[in-house]
Amino acid sequence: MDHISYAYGTNHFDQDQELKAVLRHFWADHNVHWSTLSQFGQWAGQEIYEAVYHIDHEAPPVLIAHDLDGQRIDRVRLSPAEKRILTETAWIMASPYQGQGWPYHYALLYLVGDPGIGCILTITGQTVYALNKYAQGIPDQARIQSDLLSGKAWGATWMTESQGGSDLGANQTVAEPRGDVWLLTGDKYFASGAGLNDYAITTARPQGFPAGPKGLALFLLPRLNPKGTLNYHVRRLKDKSATRAVPSGEVELNGSEAYLIGNAAEGIYYTLENLTVSRLANAVAAMATGKKAHLEVLGRVARRTSFGRLLRDHPLIRRDLTDLAVRSAAGLALTFYGIEKFDASWRDRPPYTDRYHLTRFITHLAKNRTADHAAAMTQMGMELFGGLGFLEEYAVARWHREALITPIWEGPSNIQALDFLETIQRHKVQDSFLDDLGTRLERAGTSVATQAMAVLEERLSRLASLNGREAQWYAKDGLTVIADAAQVALLYSMAQDQGERYAKLAELYAARFLDHQEYPAWVDTDQDVWGGERHA
Ligand SMILES: Cc1cc2nc3c(=O)[nH]c(=O)nc-3n(C[C@H](O)[C@H](O)[C@H](O)COP(=O)(O)OP(=O)(O)OC[C@H]3O[C@@H](n4cnc5c(N)ncnc54)[C@H](O)[C@@H]3O)c2cc1C
Repeated sequence: MDHISYAYGTNHFDQDQELKAVLRHFWADHNVHWSTLSQFGQWAGQEIYEAVYHIDHEAPPVLIAHDLDGQRIDRVRLSPAEKRILTETAWIMASPYQGQGWPYHYALLYLVGDPGIGCILTITGQTVYALNKYAQGIPDQARIQSDLLSGKAWGATWMTESQGGSDLGANQTVAEPRGDVWLLTGDKYFASGAGLNDYAITTARPQGFPAGPKGLALFLLPRLNPKGTLNYHVRRLKDKSATRAVPSGEVELNGSEAYLIGNAAEGIYYTLENLTVSRLANAVAAMATGKKAHLEVLGRVARRTSFGRLLRDHPLIRRDLTDLAVRSAAGLALTFYGIEKFDASWRDRPPYTDRYHLTRFITHLAKNRTADHAAAMTQMGMELFGGLGFLEEYAVARWHREALITPIWEGPSNIQALDFLETIQRHKVQDSFLDDLGTRLERAGTSVATQAMAVLEERLSRLASLNGREAQWYAKDGLTVIADAAQVALLYSMAQDQGERYAKLAELYAARFLDHQEYPAWVDTDQDVWGGERHA
């Protein structure tokens, strides 16, 4: 990796000034874990960084259908590098259940950075989430949870079927009660973790339940049934353009034995709640891919010369570095604001409290807008490497491929927009959101802050007042614009305790994304904004 990456071998925590500022601002307990994060950052920048490149390029999981004795096993063979990384990162899923909170979990996931490894950790964590919160009396439940949190077993979340991923209500998998278990029959069409996992949570419709999403229950599906034989088959693995570390397959359920989680009639709530966990993880992964490209670029512009100058001494390069810094700080602020709210509300249950609905609203803002930031940052990263940026043999190109999954899985932008609209029209989250951000903007006391508040008020009241197809039409634009005004508010809020740099970033973000103007030229001489930690 030494010769193909500038970010390799560096500490990805110590040099990430945006992450450190965001954690200090949004996470009261950050001090307790600071030295562990720094150690983890060194490991993330070295072993993990090398392993994920290797897995993507040379050693993705391979499906083995039969063992040497001719038994159907449907197991993936992992490279030793992937096995080691997975075993040694499994512990990061445990922090929410050990009283250390979600910000710690998501900060570690961000440092891992790779969406494929991040997916395996997240779907395993989500399996525990559903069991821990809603399941009762599943045989061996405590051992299963403990195995999942310690790398002895892996989990998965299988909802999507070929006729619909967004439209979960179109699920055709059926569940038939048989004594203490349920027999599930159907196909799961995008099943990440397939062949690797030991347990999955999956949706199915119990006989006699209504059509649509409300008729779905949630089940725990072990890979092996109690007799020790295969409980389902993996038809094949998908050939993906990125996230290759995680095997994603097609799974056939044919009378597969499964255990009901919680109350069958609440299955769709558990499923959607689980999506909040993975949408936050998605926002984390998006900003992480952007940051990996950003770190590569900071190394590049300090070495490469053109026209007799270092790249970073040209005004337009500084303009591009400004864009990377602004997006990184803003996207991370929105993400960890959502995580802070989730940390306070994740124990809420259906029909939920107002604060949980607010968390969900912020999660839609973050999931959607960070995916845009990730695509723009990683694309810019490639471009700033010139021709080398387009070559797969160097490290930077991969991050753009990885970033492009973040707008798609866990619900594409249209689905985020529709769900976000529901939190406004049905759950009326806008008043508490405006209260919270309004206080932060008022404290900033600038004309830009006043403008951001006006944007929030206008867009939210407009979306609340529209109906039917017209409301849907404007929902996606509203989702973006409200996220942008929120990022301005959060950067201003960070300026209160993280320094003047964050007030500048708030104003730069507003100029670019609320006013749609170019970044102002004064930034050219302000290295504090664009220089990155190691060059500051
Ligand atoms: C690499 C990878 C791994 C995955 N892993 C898993 C997994 O482990 N488990 C799992 O359950 N799923 C998984 N998925 C599936 C993923 O969650 C879905 O692909 C995604 O939710 C979109 O569903 P779909 O593919 O059926 O697209 P569709 O639902 O067909 O959507 C197609 C387009 O139409 C839009 N659309 C749909 N409905 C509306 C509407 N009402 N209004 C406006 N626009 C609409 C969508 O936004 C999208 O842009 C994975 C996908 C990928 C690519």
